[in-house]
Amino acid sequence: MKCSICNKKSKKLFICEECGAKFCANCGDGKREWCDMCLQFEETQKNNESIDT
Ligand SMILES: [Zn+2]
Ligand SMILES: [Zn+2]
Repeated sequence: MKCSICNKKSKKLFICEECGAKFCANCGDGKREWCDMCLQFEETQKNNESIDT
């Protein structure tokens, strides 16, 4: 199986709860089951919210 973020083979892959991408431990948070793309997106959302308030 290959990580869909870094495209490297990995024994252990997680499936992102948000977008369904398969990712290795280097490309996201395995505990939360969120890939890097979605984690970054969440960060951006948080930053935008804090600007508004
Ligand atoms: Zn990866
Ligand atoms: Zn994701």
